[in-house]
Amino acid sequence: MALILHGKVVAARIRAEVAAGVASLQASHGVKPTLAVVLVGSDPASQVYVRIKRRACQEVGIDARDHLFPAGLTEAALLSLVEELNAAPDVHGILVQLPIPGGIDESRVLEAVSPAKDVDGFHPENLGRLLAGRPTVVPGTPAGIMAILEHYKIPLRGRLATVVGRSRIVGKPVAQLLLAQDATVTMAHSKTPDLAAVTRQADLLVVAVGRGRLIGAAHVKPGAAVIDVGVNRLADGTLAGDVDFAAVEPIASAITPVPGGVGPTTVAMLLRSTLAACRRQTGA
Ligand code: NAP
Repeated sequence: MALILHGKVVAARIRAEVAAGVASLQASHGVKPTLAVVLVGSDPASQVYVRIKRRACQEVGIDARDHLFPAGLTEAALLSLVEELNAAPDVHGILVQLPIPGGIDESRVLEAVSPAKDVDGFHPENLGRLLAGRPTVVPGTPAGIMAILEHYKIPLRGRLATVVGRSRIVGKPVAQLLLAQDATVTMAHSKTPDLAAVTRQADLLVVAVGRGRLIGAAHVKPGAAVIDVGVNRLADGTLAGDVDFAAVEPIASAITPVPGGVGPTTVAMLLRSTLAACRRQTGA
């Protein structure tokens, strides 16, 4: 029986800290942290994520301002909105919900966001600072994973950690963070032959792929800790992680559930980044 790593519990603690920080910033500097949330199109999952983030902001006292546009907004119009938000003194954080539909160059948009207001940590300058070992803002999902590992005291130093998935938003940054904690890190991806042979070595397995229940018992070393980032809707409508929880939980030492694992900490870290961005911009 594995220890269940309840991200929800970790997230609740972080949210309480952020709420206290927001209140004290308001009292000391009269400033309310403000997050601009930009959503283009009507992708149902993106709409849900934006709603969750907006509600989470409200709960901790952050002002979330929506900028909602139908699909078909031009890249030039989106870039001009980002410029406007970059220049707005009363906006401390900018979040552009991904994916951006309609053939808009996502990298161009993310690179247009001022690094100081990039609360997602996706700007190349912020990713570069992470690589340089001097991070300012770290992407929310990797930061949330590290908070879960810290909260549950999962040992990292000298352990073999395997990250499956090499996206800019999860896989690559979490590998850097694990490396910074002295784990020995391996990265696997879609071109990795015999994935199970690689993942079976791992003391810590982080899976961020987007394929429902890709990772089964044969992929996991008995006693390993398993972090499941995936959120997938199966053909029968069931929500599932990238890990087959029922098969893996009996052999793992610790495992995150889906839902209630990594997801809540991602949102909590966004709140923390917005407060931190506001503090930096107001000199608090
Ligand atoms: P992504 O950008 O699509 O990247 C997926 C990665 O998985 C790629 O590196 C890809 O390899 C690799 N991959 C695909 N098929 C594979 C296979 N069969 N074996 C091994 N590797 C494979 O995905 P993402 O944005 O990182 O998201 C991954 C999952 O996490 C999704 O389910 C997403 O919804 C979820 N997610 C959850 C949260 C949260 O807060 N809970 C946050 C972000 C993402 P290549 O590079 O070779 O193509």
